[in-house]
Amino acid sequence: MNRIFLKSAAVAFASVAASLLLTLIVVPAMGFPINRTIWLTSTVCPLALAWIAGAYTFWRGERLKSAHRDLARAHAQLAAALRRLSEKASRDDMTGMLNRESFFAALDGSRRRSGRGALLIIDADHFKKINDSFGHLTGDDALLLIAAAIERGVRGGDVLGRIGGEEFAAYLVGATDQEAKRVAERIRREVELIRFRPADERVIPLTVSIGGTLCGEDAAVSDLMRAADQRLYEAKHRGRNLTILDKDISEAA
Ligand code: GH3
Ligand code: MG
Ligand code: MG
Repeated sequence: MNRIFLKSAAVAFASVAASLLLTLIVVPAMGFPINRTIWLTSTVCPLALAWIAGAYTFWRGERLKSAHRDLARAHAQLAAALRRLSEKASRDDMTGMLNRESFFAALDGSRRRSGRGALLIIDADHFKKINDSFGHLTGDDALLLIAAAIERGVRGGDVLGRIGGEEFAAYLVGATDQEAKRVAERIRREVELIRFRPADERVIPLTVSIGGTLCGEDAAVSDLMRAADQRLYEAKHRGRNLTILDKDISEAA
């Protein structure tokens, strides 16, 4: 408020100075004497009018600036909410991993950036039995333990997703054949080491089967999924709690 008062006062005094200057030039040039009335009108009129008009203009300007600031703040809050919302929409509620759609989008993006890598599909073994024996809620607990074990097994920077009920996928960014095998085996082992005690002291074993494939740069995601799925099927067929990887998609085909 003080600022508006001072700024409008400055404008008012500048107007008075301009008005006096004009009066001193124009009135004598027209052959009139400068009397008290002329002095008064050329001072008071610009002083009052400019002060009021200036104060109003500056007040409106301040209000506009404040509205701009509010708008910018609301915009930033909206953008943050949108970011949080889209982050939430891309995640699986239960495990916090990327959901199926976002996993494949992230896989696509990562492959475009780094080219080489490996895709693993990780499926919980005989999971229906866990649900049937202990109920769905306990099954959920087991799934969370499996998800955490998978997270421990992968490397920082790898892309993880829950692509089905008891099915997860990992894209091992830049992994070679040997690295992919090592990571897959580490995941399998981490799950095997879980000590799941749903009811009494008895430990219920949790295991996963893993199928994987190296991702050739030109291979379509659907082909990679098919190849990894084939290996997963093989691992299930051979008794589960197993990892099977092929060298690359062409070998799997
Ligand atoms: P396999 O070793 O052949 O994979 O056997 P499986 O029993 O794991 O496979 P199947 O496809 O027969 O059953 C999957 C089970 O996983 C059935 C389904 O109820 C359970 N499941 C899927 N999503 C969830 C979930 O979010 N929570 C719980 N508790 N169970 C789930
Ligand atoms: Mg299963
Ligand atoms: Mg399954």
